[in-house]
Amino acid sequence: MSSPSEIETRPWADQLALDDAAYRDQLAYLFDRSRFYRDKLTAAGVGSDRDAGGLAEIGELPLTDKAELKETRSTTDPIGAHLCVEGSEIVRVYSTSGTTGTPSYIPLTAADLDNWVTGSARSYAASGIAAGERIVTTYNAGPFVAGAALDAFERLGLGHVPVGTGNTERLMRAVELLRPDAVVLTPSYAAHLVEWATDREFDLRGSSVTRVLVAGEPGGGEPAFRAGLEDGWGARVTEAMGIGDIGPSLWGECEHQDGMHLGARGFVHAELIEPEDGAAIEIGDGAAGELVLTHLRHRAAPLLRFRTRDHVEVRASPCPCGRTGPRVRCVGRTDDMLIVRGVNVFPSAIREVVAAFAPRVSGNVLVRPREPGPKQDPPLPVSVELARGATPDPSLADSIGKRLRDALVVQAAVELLPWGTLERSDYKSPLVQR
Ligand SMILES: [Zn+2]
Repeated sequence: MSSPSEIETRPWADQLALDDAAYRDQLAYLFDRSRFYRDKLTAAGVGSDRDAGGLAEIGELPLTDKAELKETRSTTDPIGAHLCVEGSEIVRVYSTSGTTGTPSYIPLTAADLDNWVTGSARSYAASGIAAGERIVTTYNAGPFVAGAALDAFERLGLGHVPVGTGNTERLMRAVELLRPDAVVLTPSYAAHLVEWATDREFDLRGSSVTRVLVAGEPGGGEPAFRAGLEDGWGARVTEAMGIGDIGPSLWGECEHQDGMHLGARGFVHAELIEPEDGAAIEIGDGAAGELVLTHLRHRAAPLLRFRTRDHVEVRASPCPCGRTGPRVRCVGRTDDMLIVRGVNVFPSAIREVVAAFAPRVSGNVLVRPREPGPKQDPPLPVSVELARGATPDPSLADSIGKRLRDALVVQAAVELLPWGTLERSDYKSPLVQR
């Protein structure tokens, strides 16, 4: 196991003091260079960086929404009004993977890119993977922000085998012949490969892989779902998380598997808010809310109080690995949150409750809300896929319904589906169908 760097074990109060100084410099930079933030902050009654104060006052500044940035884009200004540098200073431009309309472009200076790779390398190194080990990656990431995460594997001194998605045969052949120590994929794909291997009597548990690093969607941190992956792969599963506009793999879990550490510490400041009204929530043990992120030393197009729409739970107890600072586990996108008779519920929490019924269920679920928007009248329709060869047993549906009521205070109408009915994906699988 590799030990964390000195920076990662720095007392959190010392980190926050350094972050406060970086943040004040970043604010001065925004007032100087960013049309978007100069206008936005001035309109909010904050006329200068001195008026804005330090990190202790950050909650008084306005939030930034992705849609606002989009509104400032045009054919003559394709990046938007938050661009702060000359074209000649930009060394890379990523695109968001949105499938509709004009993509968002994310420019980076050489220093920005270096900071991204540093943070991402720390997040992945937390998993315990070390120089000299071999890793197979499955991201078709070239144009997208995850592409910078691939640079992080090089930074760590790993032997990198990029395979990409779209060809499971080729991937598993690489696992078999090149004997990697680790693979990187989405949790959906990791689960799909367990089934794929079972179908073909491929000995996944006996493969060389000892670490499965998952990212791209929530799931890797859900105990029952993770247990299924670890059993199927015969490997340890840890998760990582980033957000396109801010940086790749900002967070990464260590071998203690109790939430993700902020690998991008010193580069990014994290806050929590209530998604409904934007009210600040203190980041303490057990707190939950939407993650809001601020760049601390970004140059090309820095963001201030950016709403990630990721809903996280916080752990603030000391971690035995020695890394300091709060850890997070993502439970879902705020857009996926449903409100059933006043109770907030995330589809990932439903999957986690259902997964505990393995081996009678496959672990695949689909929530089918009847109303548009978050508010739903009970019962909430939930399709649960049975395990291979299992016959539908009405008492199983009743037991799952009862457990969902007890654990999540949600009344569900559970429908059992035969094995293989729900869609599998080599990237991300939806948990909600509207
Ligand atoms: Zn740790």
